[in-house]
Amino acid sequence: MAKSTVERMLAGFKSFKAMYYEQRPERVTDLMNMGQKPEVLLIACSDSRVDPAILTNAEPGEMFVIRNVANLVPPYEPDENYHGTSSAIEFAVRDLKVRDIVILGHSACGGIQALVEHGEAGKVPERDFIGEWVSMAKCCLEHGPDVDEVSRRSIGNSLQNLMTFPYIQERVAAGDLNLHGWWFGMKEGILWRYDAATDEFVQGDE
Ligand SMILES: [Zn+2]
Repeated sequence: MAKSTVERMLAGFKSFKAMYYEQRPERVTDLMNMGQKPEVLLIACSDSRVDPAILTNAEPGEMFVIRNVANLVPPYEPDENYHGTSSAIEFAVRDLKVRDIVILGHSACGGIQALVEHGEAGKVPERDFIGEWVSMAKCCLEHGPDVDEVSRRSIGNSLQNLMTFPYIQERVAAGDLNLHGWWFGMKEGILWRYDAATDEFVQGDE
């Protein structure tokens, strides 16, 4: 009988263990002795097709990763709500002191599709959370209704929201934190990079 995905994942863990614990254990030993010191905070979508570690060939300890619906960054709003994304940003910037923050968006994003269809209302019918979540980027709807264009614009919006965090603003101004926007065209396999000078995305994987 064919193996289930979960069974294949358990086998996958065996390969991971062979690679990092048997063939070259130095990296894991260092990470255990010294703790994590990732240089990059990467904020990606939860979409199963855009796993940041697979896309970038990253190794354990290199990237601190936040994944949420549509790779959105909320504005800095310290209040009594439950702020998962902002907590992870705070930890990465203030405690881990990452040097780069990358927001990674992608084509055909279901979260952005929900934004395009329901963002103005802030409510997706028969769903409790997603409508309000994606509506944080509803200012990008002026670039719609093309989902991919709204997705790219929402990266610019999230970069602006990052700058509302006071410690990010300070470290960017001091030149020891860099912000990046990337957008993955899944069909063509192209990685585009946001160019703040022109407010456009340029092909950036060559
Ligand atoms: Zn997505």
